[in-house]
Amino acid sequence: SISSLATADLGNERTLAIVKPDGVSGMYTSSVKKIILESGFAIQRELTVHLDEDSVRRFYAEHSTKSFFPSLVKYMTSGPVLIMVLEKTNAIADWRALIGPTDASKAKVTHPDSIRAMCGQDLERNCVHGSDSLDSAAREISFFFY
Ligand code: GDP
Ligand code: MG
Repeated sequence: SISSLATADLGNERTLAIVKPDGVSGMYTSSVKKIILESGFAIQRELTVHLDEDSVRRFYAEHSTKSFFPSLVKYMTSGPVLIMVLEKTNAIADWRALIGPTDASKAKVTHPDSIRAMCGQDLERNCVHGSDSLDSAAREISFFFY
């Protein structure tokens, strides 16, 4: 079933991580991967791709009615992204904790050790993505893989 894409053997979970265009162009890919591996995640799949507008609109469909949606689509299609499936115990919540809050400018103050504080800029250009629940992880993993 689809939700089984986010669950794995030994009680592990899988989540979808993306290094967004600002992270890739800012040369943060290797730092982010180093943090991922040092934090105990296994990188099960990875894919570098330049997303087209239709893919971004479908991936972020939950935000399609928001005023920032056109800007988000422009941002996410501005250059290549690195998409990864990460696996470990509690992968979904632990990856969200590592990346920090959505607004990278606030993360720099409140979560200075987070990935978004390290390589993000603001509420939109925040360098990385992480699935926010078991259902989203399954949907997002199946969007790009398997
Ligand atoms: P996330 O789960 O922390 O990535 O945040 P959301 O799911 O709420 O939003 C998805 C992405 O849209 C964020 O990571 C940002 O890149 C962007 N975004 C979210 N909220 C805003 C906003 O209010 N303004 C702008 N310009 N971009 C936003
Ligand atoms: Mg989200």
